[in-house]
Amino acid sequence: AKAWHLTSRPQGLPTHDNFALRDLPDAPLEKDQLRVRNLWLSVDPYMRGRMNDAKSYAASFQIDQPMTGGAIGEVVESRMEGFAPGDLILHMAGWRDGGVIGLDMMPNKLPAEALAAGMTPQTFLHNMGLTGGTAWIGLLRIASAKPGDTVFVSAAAGAVGSAVVQIAKAREMTVIGSAGGAEKCEWALDLGADAVVDYKAGPVLPQLAAALERLGKPGIDVYFDNVGGEHLDAAFATANDFARFAICGMIDVYNDGKAQEMKYLIRTIPARIRMEGFIYTDQFIECMEEFYADMGGLIASGAVTMRETVHEGLEATTDAFLGLFAGANMGKMLVRI
Ligand code: NDP
Repeated sequence: AKAWHLTSRPQGLPTHDNFALRDLPDAPLEKDQLRVRNLWLSVDPYMRGRMNDAKSYAASFQIDQPMTGGAIGEVVESRMEGFAPGDLILHMAGWRDGGVIGLDMMPNKLPAEALAAGMTPQTFLHNMGLTGGTAWIGLLRIASAKPGDTVFVSAAAGAVGSAVVQIAKAREMTVIGSAGGAEKCEWALDLGADAVVDYKAGPVLPQLAAALERLGKPGIDVYFDNVGGEHLDAAFATANDFARFAICGMIDVYNDGKAQEMKYLIRTIPARIRMEGFIYTDQFIECMEEFYADMGGLIASGAVTMRETVHEGLEATTDAFLGLFAGANMGKMLVRI
């Protein structure tokens, strides 16, 4: 098996030179281990943070060590109770085409009923996994969004954002999505967004204000932040009283780490804005059953659909990852092995 290794810590935007594909040593299976063949790898913006040598909620990748991340694999050989060859599993030993994994890689069998009902395995890396879970928790739990609310969501044509748009529409909210470029904005409208902001075509705030006016809404009740920067400031500027901001990500600043001027931050006081950053894993276990039931239902009814941007082959993993920062994906960015 082969795995991507981090060979140097990126300064700013990562490049191919920060990574190398290397052989993994072949080892006989020990107790509580599985040999897996990976089928799907997830690449996610949070992995950029793990490339820094800084303390955060997810441990840093170590130099010259194999990288990790969400993956779907097939069990080839098992010395772990409850797992047998042929089982499809979700686990954390991504960035590689397979190998030996232990309990630390958190293997979990994909639910047989969902697969039998036609759900694809990679759905568990997206709408039934990290990105769908983040959308659901952020929108419904952190921002307490409810029917009738006006929701603004950035990176609306990405994995998390496209799920936010659809969950919000299924709950009878008004949704304004922001994305880069006409094609992505068109898709956000197809998903049900009531209006869109193309942040690459012009500044965010005038477009957001114009969309609110067109929709006859005085402002936004919820902001689901995937981007930070100018988007966040536009949300401050247009927030209704008692608006709730779920701060999910700030991809606009992941690479340069620069704080941006927030001209409208002061509106947090008169508008009594409640802002909360959150990490999916903190809440997931506690609401897992409710999430699977609700999201499973939304998917089965067609209210939540899934679009994938797929890169083929382990070699393409770094292209897929770097593409996240260039907006190269519609929906979930995935690598098929
Ligand atoms: P996406 O599928 O949304 O991919 C990233 C998208 O971000 C790109 O397609 C691009 O779309 C947009 N983007 C990239 N750079 C910029 C920029 N400078 N300004 C504006 N938009 C930009 O990724 P995910 O759905 O996986 O993640 C979305 C966000 O959610 C990220 O910030 C991520 O870190 C966060 N996240 C947080 C979690 C948590 O627990 N808090 C868990 C999972 C994700 P476009 O073409 O529109 O620019």
